[in-house]
Amino acid sequence: MKAQIITIGDELLIGQTIDTNSAWIGAEMSRLGFDVWRKLSVHDKREDILESLKESSGKSDVILITGGLGPTSDDITKQTLCEFFNTRLIVNYEVLSMIEEMMRRRNFTMNENNRRQAEVPESCRVLRNGAGTAPGMWFEKEGIIFISMPGVPHEMKYIMTEHVLPELRKRFTSQVIIHRNIMTYGAPEARLAELLKGFEVSLPEETKLAYLPAAGIIKLRLTATGSDRKFLNGLINEQVSNLYKTIPDLIYAENEESFEIVIGKLLKEKGKTISTCESCTGGRIAEMITSVPGSSKYFKGSVIAYDNSVKTELLGVPQNLIDKYGAVSEQVVIKMAEGVRRLLKTDIAVATSGIAGPDGGTDSKPVGTIWISVISEKGTTSEKLVFGSDRITNINRFSVAALNLVRKQILSE
Ligand code: AMP
Ligand code: MG
Repeated sequence: MKAQIITIGDELLIGQTIDTNSAWIGAEMSRLGFDVWRKLSVHDKREDILESLKESSGKSDVILITGGLGPTSDDITKQTLCEFFNTRLIVNYEVLSMIEEMMRRRNFTMNENNRRQAEVPESCRVLRNGAGTAPGMWFEKEGIIFISMPGVPHEMKYIMTEHVLPELRKRFTSQVIIHRNIMTYGAPEARLAELLKGFEVSLPEETKLAYLPAAGIIKLRLTATGSDRKFLNGLINEQVSNLYKTIPDLIYAENEESFEIVIGKLLKEKGKTISTCESCTGGRIAEMITSVPGSSKYFKGSVIAYDNSVKTELLGVPQNLIDKYGAVSEQVVIKMAEGVRRLLKTDIAVATSGIAGPDGGTDSKPVGTIWISVISEKGTTSEKLVFGSDRITNINRFSVAALNLVRKQILSE
């Protein structure tokens, strides 16, 4: 069962709009058991659309198309589909009355463009769009299914969810594909691959392992393919537990969970509160923590101690420590954590001081150096790490490293 995605729109090719449609469709189709073997993005250009349709035919069972269904003249997918399927546009009165009703409700007057949205290729089956005006269209040609949908993501999702996915599920006794994501942190890809060499060799043939790295975090995706869901689930569970045995210290979560979600759960579970004192991360850690709904239960606040005067005056870091060891030092970062914990009265506090770059590095403290300290009633843990030279990447990696240290501290209690 092979599926292909074609996204149509100039905006996708000039980097104005990120093609999120194909990511969403890919995930849904693969969940149904389809092998999404290719996706293409093409211009709103007759020849390009025709070529992509011709090329796809014969290689896929289902071709999912989005974009180019708007009422304006730059959107030409419908006319081009007519040409491809050798049919013509006709008014669909059901769609027309739906558009009229929608316009009435919004107090807009119908114009020629709106009326044109009710025109559909004669040979297609119309898929009602409950989220907008352009309907979806279902074609079949020589055993291949072609589905055309609007580019607007929530309209595409409506048509997929209401019509396309249920029908495909019924029509294709699907091959089962199961994915499990294991989140790891602390070993770069090459090191992780080395650690998992034996694990990979012993993987059963139904199972595949992929490495998906981002900002220091490497997501390991295990995929099992076959026909028996129960068997495959058992297989995946077994491999996941093998993974835990092989790299116990590197796994921090499953299923795409971020550090901020993981530590949020831990803090709630233990009934603890946290505060942050951030120099080089400039509030990024606090931003990550508060991006989780319900974080007000455990997050009290943050001091962005960027300038040394804030470290000394607000948080009570002794000036002589800064003079002696520098602001990026274990001694200072511990005092920052102590200071914010005292000031905001939290159980746990985390502090960061580092050199994000591009300037400010020295031989002994190059750009990318960070000191992190986490303090709780059980004690203090500090860590020095050195990352690369890009400022934004560093700030992200510093923040993730700080959250990881927080996680370890909570778990150790
Ligand atoms: P269209 O159906 O071509 O009129 O698309 C309408 C709007 O949907 C565009 O202006 C884009 O903002 C958005 N859009 C189109 N294609 C995609 C896509 N592949 N991924 C995300 N958004 C899209
Ligand atoms: Mg368009």
